[in-house]
Amino acid sequence: MENTKNHKNGQITVDTADNKLTLTTGYNALIQGNREWVKKQLNGDADYFTKLAKGQSPEVLWIGCSDSRVPANEVTGTKPGEVFVHRNIANVCVHSDMNMLSVLDYAVNVLKVKHVIVAGHYGCGGVAAALTNKQFGLIDNWLRNIKDVYRLHSHELDRITDHETKVNRLVELNVTEQVYNVCKTTIIQNAWKERTDLQVHGWVIDLKTGLVKDLGVSSNTPDTLGYVYEVQKADAVAAH
Ligand SMILES: [Zn+2]
Repeated sequence: MENTKNHKNGQITVDTADNKLTLTTGYNALIQGNREWVKKQLNGDADYFTKLAKGQSPEVLWIGCSDSRVPANEVTGTKPGEVFVHRNIANVCVHSDMNMLSVLDYAVNVLKVKHVIVAGHYGCGGVAAALTNKQFGLIDNWLRNIKDVYRLHSHELDRITDHETKVNRLVELNVTEQVYNVCKTTIIQNAWKERTDLQVHGWVIDLKTGLVKDLGVSSNTPDTLGYVYEVQKADAVAAH
């Protein structure tokens, strides 16, 4: 890749021809990759796309980080149609995020998924950024949610002197808090009143090994939420 600066008549011109070529090649590679993927699927099963187009019935909702290194299907060895996915920076679940709530509601009440997995990953850039006092722009408002997790656990985190260890522990604590946030939603609590086959889990992916660590915070009951977060049935409230 070449990016040459030339002085012409006192003006600086930048030769980006090679850059453009690289970008075009990279873009075309996506189309080419798609064609190869279609061919491979059809070689395995001539009716693959006919079946895929009929509908989906995934048993899992994945709430993960937007980081390009943690795609839900590849990490879990699953196929298209098996995992419903929502991703955002640092896998944050905020009760005012209509996007996340809409995905959760559809997954739980229409698709009837059995597992909701909040999946973070060690070395998360969003979590690391939240541990600094630098200003990054609009994203600072999003990272505030992680700073709040830090504040909840500062007594533990402040004792960790190694920076990487501190980031990775906050990654784990962030996942745990987001699992808690998902469980606090009326979507999950109302579903628990109707069925017993819905669990919420917290995972962390280790990019250095590819392996998933189950944090052991799985829940299928509102019993551990605490009094003010546990909601009554809507009709019980109306009766008061
Ligand atoms: Zn991340």
